[in-house]
Amino acid sequence: MSAMPDRGCTEQATAVKLVRSARGQREVFCGLTGIVWLHRKIQDAFFLVVGSRTCAHLIQSAAGVMIFAEPRFGTAIIDERDLAGLADVNDELDRVVEQLLSRRPEIKLLFLVGSCPSEVIKLDLGRAAARLSRSFEPRVRIRHYSGSGIETTFTQGEDACLASLVPTLVTSERRQLLIAGSLPDIVEDQFRRLFAAMGLDAVAFLPARRANEFPEIGPGTDVLLAQPFLADTGRALTERGCRLLTAPFPFGAEGTTAWLKAGASAFGIGEAAFDDATRDARSRAEASVARYAPELSGKRVFFFPDSQLEVPLARFLSRELGMGLAEVGTPFLHRSHLAAELEMLPADTVVVEGQDVEAQLDRCRAEKPDLTVCGLGLANPLEAEGLTTKWSIELVFSPVHGYEQAGDLAELFARPFVRRLRLAV
Ligand code: SF4
Repeated sequence: MSAMPDRGCTEQATAVKLVRSARGQREVFCGLTGIVWLHRKIQDAFFLVVGSRTCAHLIQSAAGVMIFAEPRFGTAIIDERDLAGLADVNDELDRVVEQLLSRRPEIKLLFLVGSCPSEVIKLDLGRAAARLSRSFEPRVRIRHYSGSGIETTFTQGEDACLASLVPTLVTSERRQLLIAGSLPDIVEDQFRRLFAAMGLDAVAFLPARRANEFPEIGPGTDVLLAQPFLADTGRALTERGCRLLTAPFPFGAEGTTAWLKAGASAFGIGEAAFDDATRDARSRAEASVARYAPELSGKRVFFFPDSQLEVPLARFLSRELGMGLAEVGTPFLHRSHLAAELEMLPADTVVVEGQDVEAQLDRCRAEKPDLTVCGLGLANPLEAEGLTTKWSIELVFSPVHGYEQAGDLAELFARPFVRRLRLAV
């Protein structure tokens, strides 16, 4: 957890939405959380957190590792001697990495993940990665990024991880569509099949499932972001000559159609081919979402800033399920990536960037929303006050992108009401 002093709130009225910036105390998880889904995605990668026992506990409990499993993440503990400058942390780190890589030959990609403690002692993980690379490449590639909780929120861990990979990808002029953002394999396969059905086979994914399958990129690469929180990754890709496509994100039937269409249009795929390829899946998605509309329509939802998925999810709940938006908080508002999403929100939507948690709690209590989407730390106290809550982190851990998951996404928002009804009977 991290906290900042209250520095107030500014407002910026636009023609269509009221966007406020809030600065104050925050209640968020740190970027280490991303290791939970990234280590499942890249199957021969290992994430070595260089941090404290607190960092180790955080990922152990978030990932819920079985005791007999060989996990693909761990923590090199910085202890009191290191913090006091009594030991050479670099020597210790080299020793840990050597032990790990000699014991685990299946590891092909090692991430050194920075934390609050490693940043406090100014441990230069970039130099450590370069030094270790000289010993272990090409057998093992060694990269580094920061998952620290200083001024960040938990989805920034994935952004930092993917951004660290981009400069090392091989250059290619190949004309291709790159989908950036970690997706469950099953969702990735669905998107690949949909594009193939339109006649587009040159589709690559970042991250890849294995270290030797990472895409080549260059000026022929058009990028669709699958996650709205990939600000640094998007910037790194454009610096390599790739072109970012602007689209809503693939949540719900409407968002998925618009996202796929942005990719299809960039490759000259016509309306007829697009409709033929997507019609059936789109109809299934619309029907499965519609099942939850009677439960959710007319209810009001309040988003605390947490996952950075808030704006696309608010758009989905408002447009496909008829929910009212009491407030849409988001830790950061990446205006260019979210331009299409902001356009689709109702004109009177209040979007709040950043967090001043006490002021926001006051607004939430005054609004009395039917559903509050928030981090774990706020959910229990708000439930105790009688509010119905949804953990925002669950929306990142669950497969929610694309047509086939659209009904599941709607169901995630309907479930808290069912749970409350059960508790009431
Ligand atoms: S990186 Fe920082 S916020 Fe995250 S668990 Fe470690 S000490 Fe806590």
